[in-house]
Amino acid sequence: HSGFVAIVGRPNVGKSTFLNRVIGQKIAIMSDKPQTTRNKIQGVYTTKDAQIVFIDTPGIHKPQNKLGDFMMDSALSALKEVDAVLFMVNATEHRGAGDNFIIDQLKNVDKPIYLLINKIDEISPDDIMPIIEQYKNALPFKDVYPISALQGNNVPELVDTLIKEL
Ligand code: GDP
Ligand code: MG
Repeated sequence: HSGFVAIVGRPNVGKSTFLNRVIGQKIAIMSDKPQTTRNKIQGVYTTKDAQIVFIDTPGIHKPQNKLGDFMMDSALSALKEVDAVLFMVNATEHRGAGDNFIIDQLKNVDKPIYLLINKIDEISPDDIMPIIEQYKNALPFKDVYPISALQGNNVPELVDTLIKEL
């Protein structure tokens, strides 16, 4: 069980927090320079029978200039080399233009895509289904995980699923 997994999502949805939790080190935040880094290998999750390389792809957002265009292209081409994609959204906010832009890019990605609804610690359990409803038909998601990257809810279950699929 080994492979490459990319994480995509708007700024501040919790990508670095998630990677730090899964990998158990502070490397992601320490090396995080939004919009100036691209396709960094954030860390490797290793157990005796699994190895997942996580890749942060902060460059997927509406380009503002030529450098942005270049970063978008390289971020998107990185997605061609991974085995699965985690698309993270914020449970405390409605689906917006930033999410829709990423969804449009992911329409061309022929890989299993998992929807991660993050920050569920900030909403009531009753509000989880309505937020899933906003996204569930946007892409043919392989699976949907409401999680808290900060507190860890449902994160081990997601990692177990990834390990089984890779
Ligand atoms: P990134 O830009 O997608 O990498 O987002 P970060 O990981 O830097 O997180 C942005 C902010 O959201 C930080 O203040 C985090 O502490 C916070 N955050 C991330 N995940 C969670 C979560 O599951 N719950 C809550 N309440 N806050 C979170
Ligand atoms: Mg980050």
